Amino acid sequence: MDLIQVLIRLALVDEEWDDKGRRYQQVRELLGNPRELTDRQEAQAALVRDDAEARAALANLELEMESLQGRLSQVEKDLYGGTISAPRELENLRRDGDQLRHRIAQIEDQALALMAACDDLDVRVHDGAAALEAFESEWAVLTADARETYQTLRARLQDLQSEREQLRQRVPAQEMALYDELRRTKNGRPLAPMRDGICQVCRVSVPRNKITIAEGGYDSVATCEGCGRILYQA
Ligand SMILES: [Zn+2]
Repeated sequence: MDLIQVLIRLALVDEEWDDKGRRYQQVRELLGNPRELTDRQEAQAALVRDDAEARAALANLELEMESLQGRLSQVEKDLYGGTISAPRELENLRRDGDQLRHRIAQIEDQALALMAACDDLDVRVHDGAAALEAFESEWAVLTADARETYQTLRARLQDLQSEREQLRQRVPAQEMALYDELRRTKNGRPLAPMRDGICQVCRVSVPRNKITIAEGGYDSVATCEGCGRILYQA
């Protein structure tokens, strides 16, 4: 391989390196940071928690209701049982009874609203669990694929890296610096194919002396007068 052939091969290796390196990063991110999955799991856990809290609040209301009803039936027993005859005491009992009935009615309203909320939460918990389960299976497939891709990319990148190092050792320092500079400034495409004495990237004509160098077999390279890329005969 002469210099230009080494550079052509290096450019191919570098291009694949850039492309696979980007994909490697993406796959690594997916595997290392499964945020979409944990977000969904947390949302489902929050629903389950809300549901349990609403059920507990409902149970408390029911207990309170039972105790109020117990007190009300005691008040009514005292009121109509005939054992109490003092008018002031009877009046107090009547007032207690009214207050207890009022409080019971309030609690009944609250309990009904809470029951509706619980039913709604039950449905959402149930649907959410099914959706999460479906997503978890999808996720398992996705990450299994990603793990395989990760291994394949990793192996390929290692090969590319070693080939790249070998190729770079064969390029003189000055040409290496030029190549690296062009790779950085020309969007990762440091080389331009030349056909019939014309640069195929920018369509500028190549002078005769540069055509000869671009055709290969030399220790130096020729750059395009238009786009500045290293020319090679295509
Ligand atoms: Zn050009």
